[in-house]
Amino acid sequence: TVVTRFAPSPTGFLHIGGARTALFNWLYARHYGGQYRLRIEDTDRKRSTPEAIEAIKDGLTWLGLEADGEIVYQSEGADRHAAVARKLVEEGKAYHCYCSPEELEEMRNSAKAEGRPMRYDGTWRDRDASEAPDGIDPVVRIKMPQTGETTIEDQVQGTVTIQNEQLDDFILLRADGTPTYMLSVVVDDHDMGITHVIRGDDHLTNAFRQFQLYAACGWDVPTFAHIPLIHGSDGAKLSKRHGALGVEAYRDEMGYLPEAINNYLLRLGWSHGDEEIIPQEKAIEWFDLDSCGRSPSRFDFAKLESLNFHYMQEAENARLVDLILPRMNGTADETGRARLLAGMDGLKQRAKTLIELAESSEFYLTPPTFPLEIPKAAKLLKEDSPALLRALADSLENHEDWTEESLENAMRAFGEARELGFGKVAQPVRAALTGSNMSPGLFEVMVVLGREETVKRLRAVPE
Ligand code: GLU
Repeated sequence: TVVTRFAPSPTGFLHIGGARTALFNWLYARHYGGQYRLRIEDTDRKRSTPEAIEAIKDGLTWLGLEADGEIVYQSEGADRHAAVARKLVEEGKAYHCYCSPEELEEMRNSAKAEGRPMRYDGTWRDRDASEAPDGIDPVVRIKMPQTGETTIEDQVQGTVTIQNEQLDDFILLRADGTPTYMLSVVVDDHDMGITHVIRGDDHLTNAFRQFQLYAACGWDVPTFAHIPLIHGSDGAKLSKRHGALGVEAYRDEMGYLPEAINNYLLRLGWSHGDEEIIPQEKAIEWFDLDSCGRSPSRFDFAKLESLNFHYMQEAENARLVDLILPRMNGTADETGRARLLAGMDGLKQRAKTLIELAESSEFYLTPPTFPLEIPKAAKLLKEDSPALLRALADSLENHEDWTEESLENAMRAFGEARELGFGKVAQPVRAALTGSNMSPGLFEVMVVLGREETVKRLRAVPE
């Protein structure tokens, strides 16, 4: 059976690229009826924080990407990881290296001078421990093959090969005995029974090293799938300016729905024909690795917004009310809540995010104050508007049939009696009721506000 995992390092928030990696692993596991595990790679104790761990879990929960089984904390496996390294030393597949910091510095400098990446030169690979100098705690390095090549059949990148001479004897255990990332990842993936490693292609070079470490341990190598990173709309590496933010920024500051984010991230690097709107059941049904693209995808806020608009139309109105209330200035008593609920169909047709929705719904809770803040709305109120609105209020005060149709008839008759075009009446009414020049349909607003409130607002416009 398929077992995937998402293995974030908790040094910051769950950023949008990480969320996509999690989604792909989740979908792959769901598609094959397998398991999706979460492993927190908190081995870098200085940079990992409890806040970051909470933020990651919180972000994943919000996206609905709940993990199967217990969460694994990588730091808890340090003893096990070290034991694996020591066993490799016993078997002659790894060795102690006593190079001093100065010697390593020299290797680094000569690599720099020759313009190549630093490679450990194998000084201690075949030396006997009896030659060990005093006062140096050794690191443990793996013996990598020095000839031949390493080939990975990557599910996204295809067949990728590296010459083994490019792989140096990397460190498994530091001088203080703590395991390195490279060692911990391999041991944990093995112990957790991970069958498929789906992650960003910035880890592709690690995969060759990990491949050899699996081989040294005599373990099956999981299937790798390295997905291209997300780039900004200009093609450059994703930065904050492009949207490389924590998912909570998409939720809190930008007001997107999780289903929109998931749909957007899914399409970012994966496709199913021309389908743009892919709800979760379809995503599970269709997702596979062979439809992942090989070139970096570009982040596009306009697409995300249009998906968010789509999912807002699909969302239950009561859920939208709950989501916008904490973002609104006005507090909702029962009447306010009922208004938002009744008006939601009209409100959501005009909003692309929850931020816009909250803003444009405010008038249902809070009557406009004068002079109106929005200049375009203020312009709708002419000198004679207050008198006109009061006259309309008088004529509606006892209007029995408070329905859209009947109100429309009443207002048209009111305008005709004064030889005013419909717009001449409707515009100041809109400003008086909503404080804005844009709102849901006027009669809908009147019905939602109710007779008493409508009449009150019409009368509240000062002379
Ligand atoms: N912890 C690594 C990261 O956050 C991922 C390691 C992996 O997926 O193998 O980049």
